[in-house]
Amino acid sequence: MANDQPFIVFGAPDIQSDEIEEVVASLQARWIGTGPKVAQFERDFAAYAGVADNRVAAVNSCTAALHVSMIAAGLPQDAEVLTTAMTFCATANAIIHAGATPVPVDIDPDTLNIDIGRAEQHITPHTRAIVPVHFAGRPCDMDELMAFADRHDLLVIEDCAHAIESEWRGKRMGTFGNFGCFSFYATKNVVTGEGGLVLARSNDDIDRIKVLALHGMSKDAWKRFSDDGYRHYDVVEAGFKYNMMDLQAALGIHQLRRVETSHARRETIWKLYQDAFTDLPVSRPLDPAADTRHAFHLYTLRIDAARCGLSRDEFIDRMTAAGIGVGVHYRSLPEHTYYQEQFGWKADDYPAAKAFGEQTVSLPLGPGLTDAEVGRIIDTVSGLLER
Ligand SMILES: *Cc1c(COP(=O)(O)O)cnc(C)c1O
Repeated sequence: MANDQPFIVFGAPDIQSDEIEEVVASLQARWIGTGPKVAQFERDFAAYAGVADNRVAAVNSCTAALHVSMIAAGLPQDAEVLTTAMTFCATANAIIHAGATPVPVDIDPDTLNIDIGRAEQHITPHTRAIVPVHFAGRPCDMDELMAFADRHDLLVIEDCAHAIESEWRGKRMGTFGNFGCFSFYATKNVVTGEGGLVLARSNDDIDRIKVLALHGMSKDAWKRFSDDGYRHYDVVEAGFKYNMMDLQAALGIHQLRRVETSHARRETIWKLYQDAFTDLPVSRPLDPAADTRHAFHLYTLRIDAARCGLSRDEFIDRMTAAGIGVGVHYRSLPEHTYYQEQFGWKADDYPAAKAFGEQTVSLPLGPGLTDAEVGRIIDTVSGLLER
């Protein structure tokens, strides 16, 4: 296979001159911490999501967003929080750091989202919240999920790390639950390097989250060094250091302006893959459901060794040898040592998540991929899997 061509890095961000110049402008202005650009990014994101400015708070990761949301939710220490067995570890870790116990639920093997039918079986008198993930950018069935949450009086904290652009029946993800948490990590759909944001139903929760995310200092403490003159702050609770910097927001402001063009490019690539791999002995993702919008964050194939003649890990090695970086999203949560030892989770109790985690591989889907690179990826995948 031709491996004299440049390596295609999985999840490489598409960084353009607008954001580079904005970062340089921040550096030259000498205001690089939390300041006016973070405030602008928050306003821009609120406008994109169609909510009021006082319902969003930028932070320095989605993990931080999940953590402070969980604290603002006021979960009691014996709370159990349902989440999907097929997610990044940060989803579960944030629940743990908020003092609650995560309870994984198996996925629907087709949608790859939390299986609400199975979630019923995990309800106990301690269940207080549910943290769905809109996997790969495909929205969860929010009619079913919100009805389930209402029935059991659960708070809903949406992990929208894959789902900035997703919609369920015309409504943006993150606006259904009490909280929606977004990621602007380097591989996500809008990139600030590291970065995250909370969208809350209540602006009181956002006020509390802004305090929690900056040491627990009283409101707008970041303005204390501005030209309005020094102002004393008061510490009102033991908070965290989760604030976003202007350097990060400088990237985000321009990334967000391109969110729809980047989405359109990923949709094109996603559909090219979907068509090209129709006849291969692999399972492809479901096409987007009617009356929903998919964010096209990941394109995942399932490599079943019995059908493909090679294992998922062999496939990864051959792709890498061919100069194409791929990802695995994810091994199921219950397969990890810590959760097994701490909570006694058994991977075999989550068969759909386990099987997907053993077979899944994510192909490059960045908006910066050229047509030639997409063609090279399609040819390489087809060459490895055609029988
Ligand atoms: C990336 C990701 C996170 C964590 O986001 P960070 O911004 O890196 O903290 C959480 N959940 C899911 C599903 C993710 O993909």
